Amino acid sequence: MLYIHIPYCHHKCTYCGFYSVAGHRDTEAYVDALCRELAMRKSGSPLKTIYFGGGTPTLLPLHQLQKIVETIRRCYDVSEVEEVTIEANPENLTPDYLRGLQGMGFFNRLSIGVQSFNDDELRLLNRVHNSRQAVDAIVDASNCGFGNISVDLIMGLPGQDADGWKKNLDMLSKVLDISMVKHLSCYELTVEKGSILERQIEMGRVALADDETLADQYDTLLEWCRDNGFEQYEVSNFCKPGYRSRHNSRYWNRTPYIGVGAAAHSFDGQRRRWNMSDVNSYIAGASKGEIPHEEEMLTAADAYNEYVMTALRTVDGIDKSLVAPEYVEHLSRSAQRFVDEGFIAETTTHYRPTPKGLLQADGIAASLFV
Ligand code: SF4
Repeated sequence: MLYIHIPYCHHKCTYCGFYSVAGHRDTEAYVDALCRELAMRKSGSPLKTIYFGGGTPTLLPLHQLQKIVETIRRCYDVSEVEEVTIEANPENLTPDYLRGLQGMGFFNRLSIGVQSFNDDELRLLNRVHNSRQAVDAIVDASNCGFGNISVDLIMGLPGQDADGWKKNLDMLSKVLDISMVKHLSCYELTVEKGSILERQIEMGRVALADDETLADQYDTLLEWCRDNGFEQYEVSNFCKPGYRSRHNSRYWNRTPYIGVGAAAHSFDGQRRRWNMSDVNSYIAGASKGEIPHEEEMLTAADAYNEYVMTALRTVDGIDKSLVAPEYVEHLSRSAQRFVDEGFIAETTTHYRPTPKGLLQADGIAASLFV
């Protein structure tokens, strides 16, 4: 698995807590540094999935993306790659840009950050695009040959009730041809430390949705997905059969991956590594052949807790064969109460969350920690 981080954005969305540089367009030096890191960390094992995330990867001009793609092809074995995703914001996806992306013959999955189809909600989030651009981006991408399109939406926006949320979902099924979209990620609006939203809430300018509204919206989402042939495979992720995100599913199985770029994380099966969140030091370091980063060796307990946390959010649940022998007994004991109460279904091989267990996955997982 390979993850490429592009930490540039047009400007900052109110809810954003990710590391990204807003309003900066000089990405040439960053792309050069990224290509250096790709070459420095090249690996002989065949890649199965590649993911370009951000930030906003589609802020890069096509020739810079092409340079990254060529470096990957040169330094890595891509003969077994199944899925290559690029995250995109609607305002960048002009027909010319989409044709350019397709022309590289590399990307086969497009993840579009729509967030909402309501212009007032988009303004509240400080997104660059409007609803019309979001619709056009999906239609144009589909017409351009992208057969695997994922859409991101955010629930629980200030002032948004279950009906307002339903209108967003209905844009996909009633205004657009739903067959164009194969995957949906729906996250609840959260207040990230240091975000503009955090300040707006502190100043009393906006208020988050209450728990009852959120529960209504989640029910609406589950019903909409059932009606439109989307299966739930993770708390926040839904897809048409056969269209799970292979890259993200591998994260949840604790598959090792290489993350390249400022602020990118990597995992080799035992150690987590994170590159420094600073593009200038990243560019300076790469030119000297030293990527500024830190790393941490996971203990067996950390590895167990991480696995339980992510696996219990998926419908596949916890695979008993992936639990370290020293924690099997602890897991069996602590999971029993949730099995008895119908939150977890136990099979000979797995502990799987039931639908009501999925709703409380994070809380249940915390009770299973060591
Ligand atoms: S939410 Fe996404 S597009 Fe918005 S500033 Fe953050 S990384 Fe950029």
